[in-house]
Amino acid sequence: MPHFHPSGSLLMDYAAGTLPEAISLLVATHLTYCPDCRKEVQALEAVGGAMLESLPPTDVKTDLATVLAKLALPEASAPDAPLAGEPWMPRPVRRALAGIATTPAKPLPWKRVTGALSEIRLTTPSRTPGGRTRLMRIAAGGAMPEHTHGGTEYVLVLKGGFSDQFGHYLPGDLSISTADHTHTPIADDDGDCICLAVVDGTLKLTGVMGWVVNRFVRF
Ligand SMILES: [Zn+2]
Repeated sequence: MPHFHPSGSLLMDYAAGTLPEAISLLVATHLTYCPDCRKEVQALEAVGGAMLESLPPTDVKTDLATVLAKLALPEASAPDAPLAGEPWMPRPVRRALAGIATTPAKPLPWKRVTGALSEIRLTTPSRTPGGRTRLMRIAAGGAMPEHTHGGTEYVLVLKGGFSDQFGHYLPGDLSISTADHTHTPIADDDGDCICLAVVDGTLKLTGVMGWVVNRFVRF
């Protein structure tokens, strides 16, 4: 069971479908590790559905039933989407890896960044400007190099673990650091640490209003 979770507003924006693709991938991956947050997202989806039902249908251009049907679709609505990567990886990550044409049979295309750090850059369809999504692999006992970035950095542990001054992070744990917080993660000694990392300079959480705004703009 993870100890570090997405905030309530992140979960709400995830449930409302208002998150940028990269952050949505991150939350979806956390959910595969975390029954508590899965429960919370289900509850939020129920609330969002009820909110839509309470609105007068004349305000909606499309049939409300169609909207609700779309709402009811789980995030992982494409079970047949191609998978790549390694079998232990959560499905959302394996789907993202399929986007860079890595077949399960091929070894992952890790690129060495420093002695201890390798990465695979992932492309996500609606990347925000300056946003970057990648898998990071830090060698056992290795330190992530000091780095600067203009936005918020999200690091979700997939395998192994790392520590920084804020805590010890294990699979499923989400570390969020802003440009103001410098931290130097160091991988655990007992094996490589593999993480999903997203840097996003533009994320705006919209909370509950995301439901209404996003749904009515989109449909
Ligand atoms: Zn959680």
